[in-house]
Amino acid sequence: MLAIKRLLLPVLLLPISLYAEYDAELVEQECQRIGGKLGSVSVQDCLDADLTVTSGRSNKNAPILLKEYPPLPTRNPLGKVLLVGGIHGDEYSSVSIVFKWLRTLDIHHSGMFHWNIVPVLNPDGLLQRKSQRVNANDIDLNRNFPVDDWENTALAHWKNYRGSNPRYYPGEQALSEPESRWLVEHIDQFQPDVIVAVHAPYGVVDYDGPRNGPYKLGRLYLNLLGTYPGSLGNYAGIKRKIPVVTIELPYAGIMPTSQEINSIWRDMIRWLMQNITEEAYNNSIKLAQDQDAAPS
Ligand SMILES: [Zn+2]
Repeated sequence: MLAIKRLLLPVLLLPISLYAEYDAELVEQECQRIGGKLGSVSVQDCLDADLTVTSGRSNKNAPILLKEYPPLPTRNPLGKVLLVGGIHGDEYSSVSIVFKWLRTLDIHHSGMFHWNIVPVLNPDGLLQRKSQRVNANDIDLNRNFPVDDWENTALAHWKNYRGSNPRYYPGEQALSEPESRWLVEHIDQFQPDVIVAVHAPYGVVDYDGPRNGPYKLGRLYLNLLGTYPGSLGNYAGIKRKIPVVTIELPYAGIMPTSQEINSIWRDMIRWLMQNITEEAYNNSIKLAQDQDAAPS
């Protein structure tokens, strides 16, 4: 019996190590492409981020990469946050800033939150010669999410209010795209308490979901842009009641200053601490009331 075990063990381990090697190669390839594309992220920055390969693949079979900062043994996280950049491939800053925040978390991850971070949801849109908003199928992923009555909302909105502009094409049907399908599967699996999506170039904070969004993050102020049918905010925020904070950076091709990048991050952490769960929200309201009631 022991001899059989000895024989079996290396055979069983072999496929796992082969996968690991294959995944490492995929990450390396993808980092070469990301670093080659973005002025603010070098190949080495991307490799240093230590991303992992998910089951998600783009239309052109590029892996959707992820970084997880799991709970630490020393404390229970306040909740789970899913942070997503690069939903639109021509919004470079929305990817680069996520890499900066990965660096921040590499140094400061304290276990306060359990993070899942996807720097680039739309690798095909970003990583082609001329980057584009839509994916390789010419579909706007941020209109392809499965909201109720999608045909009469997302598709109708595109025809009636966008003049059938190809930049905003929602597709033939909801979840027609592997990138949006993967994100929905990932939301089902990870069950985030809050989703933060990064875009550009409106220079505001947008919010969909229960409670109120952050009044300001850095120099970006809350300005509800309206909910676009089929968007992530519409799907996750309104339909599934998961708070969705949308950070709209001021420029797609120019990064905010380092100071502003940190300041957006700090304000976001503060808002998350007070809002990540119903309990955290109720506690923060109670704290504010107690402070008001305290004799000065
Ligand atoms: Zn966008």
